[in-house]
Amino acid sequence: MDMIPVNEPILDGNEKKYLIDCIESGWISSEGPYVRLLEEKFAKKIDRKFGIAVSNGSAALDVAAASLELGKGDEVIMPTFTIISCAAAIIRTGAKPVVIDCDPLTWNMDVNMIERRITPRTKAIMVVHIYGLPVDMDPVLELAKKYRLAVIEDAAEAIGQAYKGTMCGGFGQISTFSFYPNKLVTTGEGGMIFTDDKRIAEKCRYYRNLCFTKDRRFIHQHLGWNYRISNVQAAIGLAQLERLDEFILKKKRIGRRYTELLSDIAVLQLPLLRTDYADNLFWIYGLVLKDDVIFDAEVAMQKLRSYKIGSRPFFWPLHEQPVFRKKNLFKGQSYPVAEKIARRGFYIPCGLSLTDIQMDRVSYVLHEVIK
Ligand SMILES: *Cc1c(COP(=O)(O)O)cnc(C)c1O
Repeated sequence: MDMIPVNEPILDGNEKKYLIDCIESGWISSEGPYVRLLEEKFAKKIDRKFGIAVSNGSAALDVAAASLELGKGDEVIMPTFTIISCAAAIIRTGAKPVVIDCDPLTWNMDVNMIERRITPRTKAIMVVHIYGLPVDMDPVLELAKKYRLAVIEDAAEAIGQAYKGTMCGGFGQISTFSFYPNKLVTTGEGGMIFTDDKRIAEKCRYYRNLCFTKDRRFIHQHLGWNYRISNVQAAIGLAQLERLDEFILKKKRIGRRYTELLSDIAVLQLPLLRTDYADNLFWIYGLVLKDDVIFDAEVAMQKLRSYKIGSRPFFWPLHEQPVFRKKNLFKGQSYPVAEKIARRGFYIPCGLSLTDIQMDRVSYVLHEVIK
């Protein structure tokens, strides 16, 4: 039997047609027309004024943090249960990440814990929608208003998701997406920044392009990055965006079907189908081993691998990252929910190409190995 990969994208829309256009027209660099087109269409889709496409989602966070002019002495509150890129972007500005634990059911940052971590140094709250369920934004926006903080929204895992009628990617001063192949829209490697603030948008374009200025090319006032995206990548992205609504339906269907197949395994914690404010988009389908299971996620994933089923572990909490320990960050801090799900959580195949037959096999094997 073939391996069931943890993710496989769908690329059978207009991707090929637009790629041929890139080659035939000769436009393959970031100067090509698909970059602007992707930026404009995506910004329109999520009701933002400006979209700035970049080379990946981590780059988007770097540029977003730089554009807010964070620096030494500043603090940014964020979840500990997230990808390292979130903290890396903040640390590279000279500011300090301050982390909080997550909710045991949604795995999103526990918004009730934010206020007690606000100090006179706090400049921003970075929210990260985890695994397809949006963060409860109302309390976050209220705190931001009360304490005059910026909101940075990492919506990489919530492309096409909405919270109370606002699209994810539409909250706060600045938002970011990733277009890595396991995201709802992929360009192979790629990402985007969104904002409604013209000044911030201009800064993002500036930082994305080595801080070149119009006056005299090759004379620089600031240090930026080459985080440009190519016309070839943007061409794929445009074809993907055309099918986003269809992809969302497919993901939700995968999530619902897995829940039906797996809900009789009492020792598995399944993802929530919905919260008070959103249906789960099931960016991924995560599982957490309950305490009755004598082994941890590492062993469960090995067992799945022996049946040729791909899986991935959950995030490793920021406060437990060796690279940050060495920098003496988060010293003596403990966040029990994140620590637990990092060790007991993993996710199973859930890419857009997944078939019912493959899901049935994943379910059969999970029933065999998780007892
Ligand atoms: C995927 C992801 C990123 C990073 O995106 P890359 O394109 O891989 O750099 C950042 N934040 C979150 C929440 C992600 O899921």
